[in-house]
Amino acid sequence: MNHTSRPARRVLISGASIAGPALAHWLDRYGFEVTVVERAAAVRGGGYAIDVRGTAREAVDRMGLLPALRKAHVDSQRITFVDAAGEPVGSLQPEQLTGGEAGVDLEVRRGDLADALYTPLRDRVEFLFDDSIATLDDVGDAVHVVFDSGLRRTFDLVVGADGLHSNTRRLVFGPEEPFHRYLGHVFAGFTLPNEFGLAHEAVIWNEPGRSAVLYAHEPADRLHGFLTFTRDTPPFEAFRDPRAQRDLVAARFPERVW
Ligand SMILES: Cc1cc2nc3c(=O)[nH]c(=O)nc-3n(C[C@H](O)[C@H](O)[C@H](O)COP(=O)(O)OP(=O)(O)OC[C@H]3O[C@@H](n4cnc5c(N)ncnc54)[C@H](O)[C@@H]3O)c2cc1C
Repeated sequence: MNHTSRPARRVLISGASIAGPALAHWLDRYGFEVTVVERAAAVRGGGYAIDVRGTAREAVDRMGLLPALRKAHVDSQRITFVDAAGEPVGSLQPEQLTGGEAGVDLEVRRGDLADALYTPLRDRVEFLFDDSIATLDDVGDAVHVVFDSGLRRTFDLVVGADGLHSNTRRLVFGPEEPFHRYLGHVFAGFTLPNEFGLAHEAVIWNEPGRSAVLYAHEPADRLHGFLTFTRDTPPFEAFRDPRAQRDLVAARFPERVW
């Protein structure tokens, strides 16, 4: 068979965050015709810094993303553990905790990473924002897709990169509960004003069963807060209910310090 005369295979990817555009990059490079559908109106920004080291650094290098990610590097210099009164107990360099390599590893805000993946692709790959897969009909050698917008298209392959609560998985395999492997911890991430004058550092308080972390990038940025706590059962009821999420967190962190 003449490989070059073969028509491009049409691939639909659901989700334009990290995994979706990363896969789109490689499929596009190898001649696939790629469409990415994203439920949000644009690539979603936000999130604290994510380490790019080891295999990940090699991957972004091969993808030609190193210059953009170097520019976005947030360069955390210190992690300080504090006691319940907020007094420092000890400090570490981030690499002592992560096992990474100072000066080589990159640390990039999640939104900047998503943007660096999306920007070089946006004119090469079709992005359908503000839409979602409504139904999938797998007929063996093709998949007929109907989108929430009413658009109907046919693809050779559909890939779910739509996160922990994947819509694609639900449509193909049913409700997510049986696929969920709960590790006993609940996480809440949010932003808050940088009233502590923190910069390029993280501050951590923890006790058995609960922890609180503040991440600071540039002094002018908002802080990223991160609360974790143990819980015997997964909070399925709160997954899509922001008020229930806030109530859950407030019940485990009842202290008011302001
Ligand atoms: C806004 C946001 C902030 C985050 N912040 C952090 C962080 O600070 N630190 C960290 O380590 N991780 C963070 N994460 C998680 C981290 O990005 C992912 O866990 C990890 O990168 C895996 O990426 P992913 O592409 O597999 O999934 P996700 O990053 O979870 O992306 C899934 C994408 O699919 C989209 N989507 C969901 N449902 C549908 C649907 N029905 N149809 C179409 N699209 C859909 C979502 O809008 C999202 O863009 C964040 C994720 C998001 C979305």
